[in-house]
Amino acid sequence: KTPDYIVHFRENFPFFDEVDKTRPINQAYLDNAATTHICQSALSAINHYYQYQHANVHRSSHQLALGTSHQFENIRKQCAQWLNANSEKEIIWTKGATEAANLIAHCLAQSHLKAGDEIIISLTEHHANFVTWQQIAKQHGLILKIAKLDANLQINFDVLDELVNEKTKVVALCHVANATGVTQPIEPILKKLKKADIFTIIDGSQAVNHININLQALNCDCYFFSAHKMFAGTGLGVCYVKESWLEQLHPYQFGGEMVKRVKQDTTEFNQLPYKFEAGTPNIAGVFAFGQTLSFIQNEMTDDIRAYETQLLDYLLSQLQQRHNIKILATQHLQGAVSFIITDWHSADAAEILSQLGVALRAGSHCAMPLMDSISPKGSLRVSIAAYTLVEEIDYFLACLDQLSDFIE
Ligand code: PMP
Repeated sequence: KTPDYIVHFRENFPFFDEVDKTRPINQAYLDNAATTHICQSALSAINHYYQYQHANVHRSSHQLALGTSHQFENIRKQCAQWLNANSEKEIIWTKGATEAANLIAHCLAQSHLKAGDEIIISLTEHHANFVTWQQIAKQHGLILKIAKLDANLQINFDVLDELVNEKTKVVALCHVANATGVTQPIEPILKKLKKADIFTIIDGSQAVNHININLQALNCDCYFFSAHKMFAGTGLGVCYVKESWLEQLHPYQFGGEMVKRVKQDTTEFNQLPYKFEAGTPNIAGVFAFGQTLSFIQNEMTDDIRAYETQLLDYLLSQLQQRHNIKILATQHLQGAVSFIITDWHSADAAEILSQLGVALRAGSHCAMPLMDSISPKGSLRVSIAAYTLVEEIDYFLACLDQLSDFIE
């Protein structure tokens, strides 16, 4: 049974008001790694912004615009504090993790890298981190090296270490892999790479909703994620980059807001972080995210975190008991389990599960190089959040056991 405090926590998510009322209780949203539902206070903030606070930021000097700009910057501070960054100047708003990955790769390629320099990523990267570096490497004559994984689909520290040499300039890795749910050993890796003066990038998209992030302790140079995977809205990402690096890097995009002085033939760029925020940002998205951060800070108790861990353990142990299920990785999981069903194509299984009211993801999860090497037909991924009910997991398991009934 789901504990009462989780049922109570779930009441903060308006999506479930409708789902729990209008659909049979035995339906399950288990696709939280793709996106989480938005919490009520964040949703209300979007409405409130457009209804009462709608003005552009950092442009006009009227009262409305000043109030909106002030709140916008306060949320940047709140985010910096939440991540334990050194300064709010290190927080750049983007439209998502993907744009953040592109931003940092383009900036580094333009300002820091030269042909022949080496970049290391891992086989378990999301396409946002994988394709970006693959293409930037081609465009700039960089050498891309791909770290292989161990049997549990973790980046092997020694394997990575062997790839590093004096030409290595950037290492870009995920914190938690989205296709498998496996947490990567980034702490020891970052410690080691720091000594070698290598620019380190961590894709935290699948970590932020499950792990408390302390950027000063991690000491990576860049950390990015999307807000929609942690109870906020779509269209907003956070790209943290150390201030000393932002000072040196050339901007990614050009336009209004990122400039201080423009003449016919030259432009002086704005101070940090605005130099990296060309054009009108997603103000409503930032306001929603501010509420989400407050919600997480106030409501995400140790009990709720512990529940999430127990729920994933329960799901994993139940899957392990089924002889027709092969789980891709069973250790160091955060929020998700990825598996295949013997004799089933993952897309067919997902289609039937969908008809039964189970929302999960099938396929290669935007991680084709990894999936090609471990499960070319893809996998099914069940991903949970703190609001997921035990009953949803049980319903999914019951549906899974019925799958064979659907074969004629
Ligand atoms: N990295 C990882 C690990 C992800 O899981 C995702 C989203 N699936 C992304 C990057 C890209 O996020 P977005 O599509 O929100 O830009």
